[in-house]
Amino acid sequence: MIQKNISLAQYTTFHIGGKAEFFAEIKRKEELGEVINFAKKHKLKIFILGRGSNVLLPDKGIKGLVLKMSIKGIIFQDNIVYAGAGEKWDKVVAMAVSKNLGGIENLSLIPGTVGGAVYQNIGAYGAELKDVLESVDVFDIKSGEIKKLSNKECLFAYRTSIFQKSAGKNYIIFGVILKLSTIFFPNIKYPDLTKNFNLYSHYDRALDTISKITLNEIRKAVIKIRKSKLDYPTASIGTAGSFFKNPVITISNFQFLISNRPDIKGRDLGNGLVKLSAGQLIEMAWWKGKQFRNVGVSEKHALVLVSYKKAKAKDILRLANKIQKSVKTKFGVTLEPEVKIYGKHGIM
Ligand SMILES: Cc1cc2nc3c(=O)[nH]c(=O)nc-3n(C[C@H](O)[C@H](O)[C@H](O)COP(=O)(O)OP(=O)(O)OC[C@H]3O[C@@H](n4cnc5c(N)ncnc54)[C@H](O)[C@@H]3O)c2cc1C
Repeated sequence: MIQKNISLAQYTTFHIGGKAEFFAEIKRKEELGEVINFAKKHKLKIFILGRGSNVLLPDKGIKGLVLKMSIKGIIFQDNIVYAGAGEKWDKVVAMAVSKNLGGIENLSLIPGTVGGAVYQNIGAYGAELKDVLESVDVFDIKSGEIKKLSNKECLFAYRTSIFQKSAGKNYIIFGVILKLSTIFFPNIKYPDLTKNFNLYSHYDRALDTISKITLNEIRKAVIKIRKSKLDYPTASIGTAGSFFKNPVITISNFQFLISNRPDIKGRDLGNGLVKLSAGQLIEMAWWKGKQFRNVGVSEKHALVLVSYKKAKAKDILRLANKIQKSVKTKFGVTLEPEVKIYGKHGIM
């Protein structure tokens, strides 16, 4: 079950990454104890991989044991869904929509696994996974115990969770329980969606029309918008979606920023903070569509870095670095990667 020297590029949507010293694909939760014992016996570090759609793995490979999570299974019981961590996230969304269960339709077509979705608290078009998550089943690498974490215990926030903090770094997610709704009100406040349903200028007066929009119509609209705005990985182009998080700054910093550049967009978070659009800042710094030898910035969306044939992690990192520096110099704003960047020994 445990293999040696396996190329990881094939397991990431950037198509980048050297070899794993040890590698195992986990198809049942019972296998976890066995592989963890192997890692403990040989003093190996453990790395978890879902679909690899939000990671940049090092060219030199990973020293330790990489576990690719492929635990399957989706069970619906009324409005409660249990999903294995290795299931495709979008399969869960498609099934929920077909059963007329609301809550995750705005999260359609996000690549990756259920486990990766929880780790990252995925979000799109005004929805986040945390809004429907009931509990998470985890295997504790340290104690070998199985635990159930409630939504509150997962410490979800913008693109983060306990699994990204030291308190949760020993947890392997193997299953998730979601609570969906049988009665739902379409969540189409996000401008692209409002526009799609031709309700742009009179959202408040159109409640009756909005209430008739079906889950399937929302899923279809989200898929259409995503396909028009994003590059999806193909055999020749790699991407991990948004490379940077949207920066959050104080209101006073925002006011200073727009006193020079009134066109900079910001969303008031209501707690003295404003969320900026990283994509807009990168575009305003003239990076959109820029192509280099093996890597580039998407022509469709400035927040998306793309890799071409023979691209290396170091090429992506060099480009990301240049973008960060130019946005910092132009606007004084720090861009933080959303993609998890790994070194030989773990997340950097
Ligand atoms: C074209 C494209 C569009 C995207 N759009 C969006 C979007 O709209 N919104 C959004 O939020 N994200 C988006 N993403 C990013 C990505 O798809 C999500 O973050 C996804 O949830 C990652 O899942 P994964 O299985 O690929 O995780 P991976 O990339 O394999 O792993 C990501 C991190 O999660 C950890 N992890 C994965 N599985 C487990 C597990 N079972 N237990 C413990 N830790 C685990 C890994 O160790 C790693 O650190 C996009 C990516 C692409 C390529």
